[in-house]
Amino acid sequence: MSGRDWNRYFLDIAKTVSTRATCPRLHVGAVIVKNRNILATGYNGSAAGLPHCEDVGCKVFENHCIATVHAEINAILQAAKNGVSLSGSDIFVTHSPCINCLKCIINAGIYTITYDQVYRTHPEELLNQLGTRKLITDNTILL
Ligand SMILES: [Zn+2]
Ligand SMILES: [Zn+2]
Repeated sequence: MSGRDWNRYFLDIAKTVSTRATCPRLHVGAVIVKNRNILATGYNGSAAGLPHCEDVGCKVFENHCIATVHAEINAILQAAKNGVSLSGSDIFVTHSPCINCLKCIINAGIYTITYDQVYRTHPEELLNQLGTRKLITDNTILL
């Protein structure tokens, strides 16, 4: 498979992962990969043991559902829980990350973010807000 085909393969898996999301506002899926091995997956949903948005409704504050942990963070936490280093890995997400996830992805040591579609704010604008000169090519952010 070519590089582009691998991207499509992992984005399709992220899409499948997103079907587990429990916040009706948006279903997001994330897959963290290193050397084409999947290290962790995540979807957006409530913290473990807390009620799900789809059952009790979202808790919306300043136009964001604050009940959910974002897919990217859940994938990073799954790795943390299992003792898996993400240093030098790549993350594939159905939607471009929010500014908080972007910062956490950077600090997890992840090297690239590939997204299927832009969510709310274009990542280029988020990178500008953070004051970095990171590059984006073909929906991939090089961190
Ligand atoms: Zn919600
Ligand atoms: Zn986020």
